[in-house]
Amino acid sequence: MTNVLVTGGAGYIGSHACKALKAAGHIPITYDNLVTGWQDAVKFGPFEKGDLLDRPRLDEVFAKHQPNAVMHFAALSQVGESMKEPAKYWRNNVSGSLNLIEAAVAAGCLDFVFSSTCATYGDQDGVTLNEENVQHPINAYGASKRAIEDMLRDFEAAYGLRHVVFRYFNVAGADPEGEVGEFHRPETHLVPLMLDAIDGKRDALTIYGTDYDTPDGTCIRDYVHVCDLVDAHVLGIRWLADGKGSRVFNLGTGSGFSVREVIDHSRNVTNRNVPFNEGARRPGDCTRLVSGSDRAAEELGWRPTRSTLQTMITDAWRWHQTGHYDR
Ligand code: UDP
Repeated sequence: MTNVLVTGGAGYIGSHACKALKAAGHIPITYDNLVTGWQDAVKFGPFEKGDLLDRPRLDEVFAKHQPNAVMHFAALSQVGESMKEPAKYWRNNVSGSLNLIEAAVAAGCLDFVFSSTCATYGDQDGVTLNEENVQHPINAYGASKRAIEDMLRDFEAAYGLRHVVFRYFNVAGADPEGEVGEFHRPETHLVPLMLDAIDGKRDALTIYGTDYDTPDGTCIRDYVHVCDLVDAHVLGIRWLADGKGSRVFNLGTGSGFSVREVIDHSRNVTNRNVPFNEGARRPGDCTRLVSGSDRAAEELGWRPTRSTLQTMITDAWRWHQTGHYDR
């Protein structure tokens, strides 16, 4: 059993991670400022309200819970917002992570799992991305995450901080048991916005750009189920505990779907019309982000079981219909 400090444990991915950690026999301690998270999503272990920019509070929580490992999800993660307000991203994501990493090292907690993103790769048209690709982020969100990856490497060299970095592709779906799911305010992500449009909670989905260099003109993404994603994190904790050392893993399926294809799948799953219109490109969006790596499968033993579009949308739709979106 391991005490794991989960920053952002009240958020979408963090809350699913807490559930998976508990199921694997660990104790997830959520550290969250509740700016984008929800206290009622903290169901699987203790809750400590706090901000990453508050170093004394971080030190207090490390002293109280003596975590053996950190799982760091807390971050601002909207590509569009990051282009308009980059300072928020550098302050919250980069300065906040610096505080957390310094506090972890000071507390002697040297196993660190970090939530990074395929947005660190940037636009590399036509290329499937693997962990050795150069990273050229084209938005402030991706740049902030790459900076944190660099920080982790420096802290390993200086203080022996062992870290597993997961570069996520597009996360979708929800806990099939309905205990937790996706809920952002404001919502900016494709699948929940589309489900909102399907059941009339918003007028229509706007497709951001139909003139990309892809077969149907819309952006292509590699979608991975949140439950599969967090399973990899639990494997990451074991990887570090087994002394296997720092490593970067892509978490994607290797299959890309365009925005129009996601709309088509949603129509089939829900058996409802998807109202949409065609709009301008969203600044910062890459044309195509698809993982080209089997490293997580080969080295971590990661076996995604729910990451088909059909299952992701079915699970998201079930969660959507519970009414959590209406709060
Ligand atoms: N997208 C869209 N309309 C929306 C939201 C997203 O067309 O209202 C597109 C977006 O341009 C991208 C894909 O859907 O190609 C996934 O976007 P999302 O914000 O869900 O995730 P991101 O790729 O930014 O991490």
